[in-house]
Amino acid sequence: METHDKRELVDLTAGVAEAVKESGVKGGICVVYSMHTTGAIIINENEEGLLRDVLVKVAEDFPRRGTWLHNLVDDNAQSHLAGAYLGPSVTVPVEGGSLALGEFQSVFFLELDGPRPERKVIVEIVGE
Ligand code: ZN
Repeated sequence: METHDKRELVDLTAGVAEAVKESGVKGGICVVYSMHTTGAIIINENEEGLLRDVLVKVAEDFPRRGTWLHNLVDDNAQSHLAGAYLGPSVTVPVEGGSLALGEFQSVFFLELDGPRPERKVIVEIVGE
């Protein structure tokens, strides 16, 4: 997937739900995993205001600092730190052949150092 902003939330829910359906798994777990050190996977509500709040909060909690040592390498230590603390994956139960998400839950890729031409997220479904 391509991202377009420095920080951005991409709703993956429909694609993940489709992967579960195609797998034929009725009961098990679904792992959604980002292969990146400057991205994260989160679950929350897809509400426009909240999505902006999340991006503001991440920027506040992980500000750029000239003293981060990694910034001597490629000037994105704050993006790595946010990724490390927010985490690269979520696990969602699969029940009755569908994702067991709550009414207001969606699965997002959180871009922390975009824009990037190619972000890879693995969806692994285990069960029977
Ligand atoms: Zn880096």
